[in-house]
Amino acid sequence: MKAVRNWSVRHARGLHRVYVIIESLLALLDPLLHRIGYQRLDKPMARLESLIKGFFFDSQSCGDCTLGATGMSCPMNCPKTLRNGPCGGVRQDGGCEVKPEMTCVWVKAWEGSQRLEQPEQGLQIIQPPLDARLKGHSSWLRALRLRRGQRQ
Ligand code: SF4
Repeated sequence: MKAVRNWSVRHARGLHRVYVIIESLLALLDPLLHRIGYQRLDKPMARLESLIKGFFFDSQSCGDCTLGATGMSCPMNCPKTLRNGPCGGVRQDGGCEVKPEMTCVWVKAWEGSQRLEQPEQGLQIIQPPLDARLKGHSSWLRALRLRRGQRQ
């Protein structure tokens, strides 16, 4: 929902902190999660992520979450699904080129990043091309797997 998504950007600092706490908790639980099996946990975890992130950020469950680096604005809501900054069509009022009634997700990402403790730091990270096979999978578990150096 657009209103909640905009609220989340306005409260990016607090939500980013919650995000970091969740990451730390999952890192603590990682030995247990690894024992149970990431694959077995993937579906329920992806469902949980989808519920939480879907509500707050209109997450599209891409499986490779960038929220922490994009001012808590989900770039997958961009009609062109651009993950490394805006296209050249942002309107003068900040509206999206494709959906004028929507503010460009990258304008929102900028606004949100200004509220973080280290503004703009995340926006400077170059996001790799999205692997479409990750869609619908848990990005939290993927982050744990990557930490362990396992194959995606
Ligand atoms: S204006 Fe922004 S949201 Fe719209 S297509 Fe371009 S980058 Fe995406």
